[in-house]
Amino acid sequence: MFMVIENTPGYLPEDDDPAVFDSVDEAREYATEQLDRLIDHIAEGQDFDDDANGWTVIGDFAEGDLSVVVYDGARSHDLGRVIEIVLVCPVCREAVWDGPQGHKLAKCWNSEGHPSGMPLAFDTMA
Ligand SMILES: [Zn+2]
Repeated sequence: MFMVIENTPGYLPEDDDPAVFDSVDEAREYATEQLDRLIDHIAEGQDFDDDANGWTVIGDFAEGDLSVVVYDGARSHDLGRVIEIVLVCPVCREAVWDGPQGHKLAKCWNSEGHPSGMPLAFDTMA
C-alpha cells in the first residue's frame, strides 16, 4: 500500500488520516492532483500580489519521482511544501522507508503492530 502525504519539510505531517492506495500508480495519480491543487492555491494567492514570482517545482511524479517539493516564489523564506508517496505496511500502516529496490517483497519490522507479533513481509506489486 502507498500513502500520499503533504507537509512542510522538517515538520510532521498535519494530516492524521492520509490517503492510502493499493498501487503506486493510483497514489501517483492522486499525488499529481494534490500537486495541481497546491499550485492553483499558490497561483490564487499571488493574484492579489504585485510581487508575484510564480513558483518552483522540484521533482516530477510523471518521471517516476516519489516526492515533489513546491516553493512559493512570493514568500522569501518559504520552506516549501512536499508531496510524497510513501510505501506503508498494509497491516499496521507504518511507513516502510527501506522499501525494496527492484524486489517484490518489502518487510515491516513493526512487530507490535501486527496480530502475529512478528515482522511482516508484504507484496509491493499488488
Ligand atoms: Zn507493519
